[in-house]
Amino acid sequence: SESVSGRRVWVTGHRGMLGAAMVRRLEGTGAELLLAGRSELDLTRQSDVYKWAKENKPELVFHIGAKVGGIHANATLPGDFLRENLLIQTNVMDAAFQAGVKKLVFVASNCTYPTRAELPIKESSQLTGALDESIRSYAISKIAGIEMCRAYKLQYGADFVAVIPPNLYGPGDNYHPEHSHVVAGILRRVHEAKISGAESFVVWGDGTPRRELLHVDDLADAMLHLMNRQTDWLYNIGYGTDLAISEIAALVAEVVGYKGAIVYDKSKPNGTMKKLLDSSRINQLGWFAKKDPKLGLKEAYADFLSQLNQPER
Ligand code: GDP
Repeated sequence: SESVSGRRVWVTGHRGMLGAAMVRRLEGTGAELLLAGRSELDLTRQSDVYKWAKENKPELVFHIGAKVGGIHANATLPGDFLRENLLIQTNVMDAAFQAGVKKLVFVASNCTYPTRAELPIKESSQLTGALDESIRSYAISKIAGIEMCRAYKLQYGADFVAVIPPNLYGPGDNYHPEHSHVVAGILRRVHEAKISGAESFVVWGDGTPRRELLHVDDLADAMLHLMNRQTDWLYNIGYGTDLAISEIAALVAEVVGYKGAIVYDKSKPNGTMKKLLDSSRINQLGWFAKKDPKLGLKEAYADFLSQLNQPER
């Protein structure tokens, strides 16, 4: 087990929602942060990544930087998702290993589980069936990353651990109208409906799929928890309960203070119907999610409003 205090800790993707949450969580821990923005270090460029790791000598790594997006982005850019994530994670993980890193935490995704995995989904369901078509290229890139953690542990004894979060939300989310994830997408449309005085707002699909929402600060906290302990190589990190998309939409409308109706756009895909994770493996290490979605969504909305008042990021 490794304590971050006094250690050189590399956080990749520190400008994204989760990376920024990780940096916030590490404040005051005594960790010496190693951060490189995209202009400084392009993680898809192999020789640059090895050179950077050799020069900066990270001891611990939170590998968060990746190409991510919601159901629509995945449907339209599968080649980009596959290529960029395979390049980035292979470069970062091997460069870190070559540089003598002591422990690395890699962020995977719940879409790596088969569509028909038994619910709630246990870590042992990995690779037991077919994936959801809508997200398969991204999922396969993340499965390769999970396998890299396992293979490097098996062959080289590397202390690499993969985490599988459910649907994330929180400050710093991407509120792009099409490419965002469910919470950010709905948040934006409810807000716009409220501002324009519209009678309703649109929600994709038929409202019946269920999603487990996790506040990004909870995931950052869980990742630090794993970094500081002796661990296995794969952990689900869930909130513990899921909500129907219709319930998520109603909660967001309540938080935004909008009273109009929900209209379902059934031409948009539902995706997987249910994906609730079984998080008992990390619960047994003494970690539980803390942030209730309603409270968390209030913070997310406050963040959305503050982003509106800022120049383009
Ligand atoms: P997923 O959990 O991997 O499928 O990814 P998303 O975060 O994109 O969630 C997709 C689910 O939310 C699907 O059931 C969509 O039909 C539903 N959904 C409803 N409204 C929206 C929206 O505005 N944006 C997105 N991304 N999904 C939405």
